[in-house]
Amino acid sequence: MNVFDLAEFDEHEAVHVFHDRASGLDMIVAVHNTARGSAVGGCRMWPYSSGRAALADALRLARGMTYKAALAQLPCGGGKAVVLGDARIAKTHALLASIGRAVDSLDGRYTVADDVGITATDVAVIAEHTRFACAPLMADGNASPATAFGTYQGILAAAAHVFGTERLEGRTIAIQGLGAVGAKLCEYLADAGASLWVSDLDDARTEEIVRRWRATAVPVDDILYASVDIVAPCAMGGVFDSESIARLRCRAVAGAANNQLANAEAGRALAARGIVYAPDYAINVGGLIDLIHARAPNYQVSAVLEDCRRIYATTLDILERAAKTREATSEVADRLARQRFRDPVSLSGAPSVTAA
Ligand code: NAD
Repeated sequence: MNVFDLAEFDEHEAVHVFHDRASGLDMIVAVHNTARGSAVGGCRMWPYSSGRAALADALRLARGMTYKAALAQLPCGGGKAVVLGDARIAKTHALLASIGRAVDSLDGRYTVADDVGITATDVAVIAEHTRFACAPLMADGNASPATAFGTYQGILAAAAHVFGTERLEGRTIAIQGLGAVGAKLCEYLADAGASLWVSDLDDARTEEIVRRWRATAVPVDDILYASVDIVAPCAMGGVFDSESIARLRCRAVAGAANNQLANAEAGRALAARGIVYAPDYAINVGGLIDLIHARAPNYQVSAVLEDCRRIYATTLDILERAAKTREATSEVADRLARQRFRDPVSLSGAPSVTAA
């Protein structure tokens, strides 16, 4: 297997492979780009079907972190670690210690955080073996409140662009997925006076939100196609392809779910239908902002929220540029992000948080 030949390889700066027989650790750390600062990204533990699948995932996720951090002008680059194995069985104290030692050997080029299979509590164990480990702090290792607040800023920007006002009184918003992010987002939207249409696979969650915010419950298969002002996907990725886009009845899409576009064509298809899409990674960066603040000294929640508020301006900028050039918003976001990690002039202008 030649890493340079993989479709997911995109000028990654480094790929590190770690094996530790004693603890059973098999780990790949991909560092995509460190032009803005040392790489930050979660460590995912997953029973990958092969080393190739794990490598492809590490490359793809690390690249995504670079784009997300650069677009938000954060002082960090993109990286990701993947550990091969089932976290429910193979995640031992020795394995976590081994992850810590491996990360430490990279001498700060990559800072590890939580992800699927690796919790904030696990990161605390890893941190006993390296200072290059951190977890979000705003809600004790839980990134979702910062993510929800940031996503709310993105929704406000989408409303301002589409309706000429960011005021949400009387606006109808459909939220798909009422988990950690979706439920908190409902709170912000309801407080702002929006009417909520909601759906979750878990009926108890839906009922709770309906009761709390007088929301309207919608069947899971219909939520994306509700006749509302804004649809906010907050469940899983890949929800927009040519088929689903043809059925949309909203004016704008703005939600927290990662990788909402099933393919590059989906961004253009949304634009062609006149539906304004706030790029997912532009508006769901709040959790990463919290993490970057947690990595730096003098952590303050108010500073995290202040940086999350910048998502409004970033999103509005993308939407306005796309409207002018008649491009897909996803393409504009990708180009801006690339400029911000490739063009030295753009490497300044980071928000209030400083590099660790
Ligand atoms: P979560 O697991 O807490 O919640 C997801 C919810 O979606 C669950 O309640 C689940 O039942 C529901 N769901 C799944 N499929 C559904 C469907 N087809 N229809 C309706 N509901 C469905 O996850 P989360 O932390 O709230 O994250 C939500 C999304 O936001 C994910 O795509 C995640 O990758 C993305 N995201 C989260 C964060 C964060 O800080 N947690 C940061 C960036 C991006």
